[in-house]
Amino acid sequence: MNGHFSAVGNTSAAGDNYQHGVQVIDEEKEFNQNLNSYLRATHVAESGFNYHLISVFGSQSTGKSTLLNNLFGTEFSVMSETERRQTTKGIWMSKNKRGESAGAKMADNILVMDVEGTDGRERGEDQDFERKSALFALATSEVLLVNIWEHQVGLYQGANMGLLKTVFEVNLQLFLKDKQSTPRSLLFFVIRDHLGTTPLSNLRTTLVQDLTKIWSTISKPRGLESARIEDYFDFAFAALPHKILQEERFRSEVHQLGARFATGHRAGKAGGHGDQELEGGIFLPEYHRRIPADGFSAYAEGIWDQIVNNKDLDLPTQQELLAQFRCDEIAREVLVAFDLVVAPLEEQQTEATRLGKILVLSALGATGSSAREKIFTAFEAQASRYHKGTYVRKRSELEAKVDARLKSLYQAQLAAAHKAGVAAFSEAVAHKVKAGQKAGGAYEFAEIVANEKKKTLEIYEAEAKELAMEGVAWTNFRAQYQLFETELAEVSAKLRKEEMRRLATRVERWVKSRLGDAVGIEFNNLGSGKGGSTAAPEGEKPPSEKDLWDRIWNVFTGIVKEAEERFADRAKSFDATDDEADVGMWRLRRKSWVGLREKIEEEVMEGNILLKLRENFEDKFRYDEAGVPRIWRPTDDIEGLYTKARESTLTLIPLLSRFRLSGTYAPPNLPGFVGPQPRGVEVGDEEDLSPIGGVDEDEGKSLEEEMTVLSESKRQDLVVRFKKTADGVYVEAKRSAIGGIAQ
Ligand code: GDP
Ligand code: MG
Repeated sequence: MNGHFSAVGNTSAAGDNYQHGVQVIDEEKEFNQNLNSYLRATHVAESGFNYHLISVFGSQSTGKSTLLNNLFGTEFSVMSETERRQTTKGIWMSKNKRGESAGAKMADNILVMDVEGTDGRERGEDQDFERKSALFALATSEVLLVNIWEHQVGLYQGANMGLLKTVFEVNLQLFLKDKQSTPRSLLFFVIRDHLGTTPLSNLRTTLVQDLTKIWSTISKPRGLESARIEDYFDFAFAALPHKILQEERFRSEVHQLGARFATGHRAGKAGGHGDQELEGGIFLPEYHRRIPADGFSAYAEGIWDQIVNNKDLDLPTQQELLAQFRCDEIAREVLVAFDLVVAPLEEQQTEATRLGKILVLSALGATGSSAREKIFTAFEAQASRYHKGTYVRKRSELEAKVDARLKSLYQAQLAAAHKAGVAAFSEAVAHKVKAGQKAGGAYEFAEIVANEKKKTLEIYEAEAKELAMEGVAWTNFRAQYQLFETELAEVSAKLRKEEMRRLATRVERWVKSRLGDAVGIEFNNLGSGKGGSTAAPEGEKPPSEKDLWDRIWNVFTGIVKEAEERFADRAKSFDATDDEADVGMWRLRRKSWVGLREKIEEEVMEGNILLKLRENFEDKFRYDEAGVPRIWRPTDDIEGLYTKARESTLTLIPLLSRFRLSGTYAPPNLPGFVGPQPRGVEVGDEEDLSPIGGVDEDEGKSLEEEMTVLSESKRQDLVVRFKKTADGVYVEAKRSAIGGIAQ
């Protein structure tokens, strides 16, 4: 639809210095692609709305170009005074080269369009071009200079009147569609070769009468039948003396005239048609077509395209198309600066992702928000001059594009900050714990975690705050912060669990060492037998072999109780939950039991237990009731003593075979001691937990089996071995008795 808008190169052809201005439309009715570069070269392009457009109309060779050149210092070609040939072809444009005229400041950036003469003398009956150029001039210009000889005034049928009729018709056609703005234009009549005999005011009256007459004859579109000429046009008049005959006066009056090309405002009520109602210059704001200068070339090209192809010229539509075209162009331009800042950051992030690195860009928020603000400001500065609705739409398109990119940058940044934060947190906690352990273990785990968590959260929060922009909803990263907080809590829980494990390991080690000592003593006592060398101190009942297991169980539960208390104390200090502490103590009881079993197994290992039994036996056999060693004599009942001692020791074997309490002759309540499995824990999942018979029911091992210290076969084997050992002792005793006699 807007195909006729094409990007215009911003460099002019080399050597083209635009001395004569620029040809906007050539004789082939082609639009010149260099118009925009001309506007740039003359710095009009950057003037926004602060420029003015004038077109000159009039019969061929009525001194139009001469007038413009004198008024504006332009260098439009003029017909040489000797050859009478048309020189101005198509439509030319030049910028006013004068800053002031007759001491008065002229308006900034006046662009003058010199339109090919239109009386058709040299172009044949080219009514078509006349109409087209009139349309073009009206669609773009604020002021139409109508150049007319004095002697043509009042000649209603004159060539100029034909032109004016065209202008009026075209005007109605043009602004029919533009209901909301109904732009006005100034028709500025410059009466040439004014003799001075008829005052300008009379000429003016005549012209106004003629114009009104012409207006009444044109066919008006439906709905505009009663439109008045002054609804569309203001009029201004000036007269100039003969240029050749009165050169001096011509010059000075042209300068006076030039002074009127300044900005002005209406002094009286709107709708009048006298120049006496204007204050200041002739450029009233209402004449301006409101096409931003940087879009003028594209707009003019679009207009001309419609005109040349005889399409209905619909200015509002053209303005919208222009707005779309220019807003897109401006967006592309401003994106260049944005890209310069943002693209390298995007690349860094992509590269980091590719390498699996965590990259937290520094000062991303400041960079991002400044780039964002700059691009919108730059876009607004240029684009906001265009059709409002289009601008607003294009701005939100640009915002969406920019914000999508920033958003993905920011989200990746926060994801990186998240990862970096979690890693830093875990590391810092581990480091502090290690340092604490090195320093003797006097560290507060909960405190370390709380401090590091606070620090880490603050860093993340600062990052999120740095990225936040006021009034930009998507930069509210509350949700991400909460996610981070949640993950830190999870990591803390994991670290605490690890710390619990470490604590458990320490406590287990302590339990093992205590059990080792205590159980070792009990088994050593076996070796001493009743009244043995390690008998209990006086006044205390000596340890009985029968309640060996009771003592071991009591010692065991006592040690574990103490360990549990230590454990619970410590666990509390690092903010473990009750559930976590329960699990820890449950594990501790289980592992302690396993430790006890191991210790017992070690004690009843073949060599060890045999030695103990031998000691026990020897103690009974070789010492008397008072603990005095026997000196065997042949008369002694060695055999009787031997049998008694042997049988007594042999009773130990079944006793040792099973962990049984003497009172109940039943295993201790191990399941009750270990307690129920806490919620959320599976023995099978805890790799370091071995199953315990009678406690872990699914294991297919009964409590009886768990409490079996010596299997049946081991027991029998032990009996046989022990008897052999005892026999050896007996034989030795016998020998020593005989030997004693022999001495
Ligand atoms: P254009 O075709 O309307 O642009 O006219 P030009 O500016 O090329 O001038 C055409 C001829 O009219 C030239 O020979 C000029 O010297 C001459 N000319 C210029 N100004 C005046 C003037 O004020 N009075 C008269 N009589 N001739 C003029
Ligand atoms: Mg000319």
